[in-house]
Parts: sequence; C-alpha cells; structure tokens
Amino acid sequence: MKRGVYPGTFDPITYGHLDIIKRALDIFDELIVAIGENPAKNTLFSAEERFNIVREAIEDYPNTKVMMMEGLLAHFADEVQASAIIRGLRALSDFEHEFQMALANRKMNPRTETIFLMPNEKYSYLNSTMVKTIASMGGKVTSFVPKSVEKALKEKYKSKSSKNE
Ligand code: ADP
Repeated sequence: MKRGVYPGTFDPITYGHLDIIKRALDIFDELIVAIGENPAKNTLFSAEERFNIVREAIEDYPNTKVMMMEGLLAHFADEVQASAIIRGLRALSDFEHEFQMALANRKMNPRTETIFLMPNEKYSYLNSTMVKTIASMGGKVTSFVPKSVEKALKEKYKSKSSKNE
C-alpha cells in the first residue's frame, strides 16, 4: 500500500491544492493532508481552523484524511509511514525553495522521496495569499475556493473588521 503525505500551510485550502490532491490520488492508495504549524508564518486561520476547513473540503475525496503536523516533516513522514511527500509546482518561482526543502528532507529522511505535481494550468497562478487579499477587500473568490472556504473567509474578515471598529 502506497501512502503519500501532502504537507502545507493551507491558509486556506484552494482549488489549486485540491487539484494536486486529486492527481496524487491517481498515484497513491492513501493520502494524508498534513497541516503545518510553522510558527514563523503569520496565518489568517489558526491551525485548528485550517484543519476543519480542509476536513470539510476533502469530505468527498476517497482515501484522504487530514492530520495536524507538529515538528519536522521528515519525521512526520516516517511516523505515518508515508513513502512520498507530495508538493505542488506552479511556476519556476516555486522551484528554488521547493528544491532546497526536498533535498533537506531527503538528507534527514532518505526513505521518503518528494514528488512534484503540476496543477491544471488554470490554477497555476493561484495561491492562498491572493485569495485572502481579494476576500479581505470584499471581492468574490467563488472560482478559487470551495463554497465552505468562501464562507469561512467571509466570517473571518467580518469578525476582524468588527474587532477593529
Ligand atoms: P507552504 O506554506 O508549505 O508552501 P501552501 O499551503 O502554500 O504551503 O502550499 C502547499 C503546497 O501546495 C506547496 O507545495 C505549494 O506549492 C502547493 N500549491 C499551492 N497552491 C497551488 C496551486 N495553485 N497549484 C498547485 N500547487 C499549489
């Protein structure tokens, strides 16, 4: 049985991430979406919120589950017995950072390979930051994220603006 782990911040999950998940499911028997808790990243949603948002978004996906990941990905991959780490590659701009991480992870855990998947071209420009920027200014994000994520974004920005009043 081949198990893959797809790690990320998912702040929040977008159709780009979901496209990668679908592609990974064609290759792996089982997929774990791992929510990272990188303290250096100032996220809009808490780790728990991101976990719940992802859980809802992947509800209908077979053999896929979401987990919270603490500590190093290289160790987590071993803990969950994943044979590969999956990452999405959008453009050349992703490459350098991804290349560095993949090699560092392989140094720490030679048992786990990193596999890069490319999304459908229509998602190659899409990232969570852009979605947050649009939503924060009241724009529509319907074509970038599922309905439940759109709702979570709306609620978040509503509560943020009422806090600032
Ligand atoms: P991280 O902070 O770890 O980069 P992200 O949530 O931003 O986490 O992304 C997780 C993974 O998904 C990364 O490999 C990223 O390149 C990939 N990814 C994000 N958005 C897209 C997209 N639109 N298409 C394909 N891959 C994507």
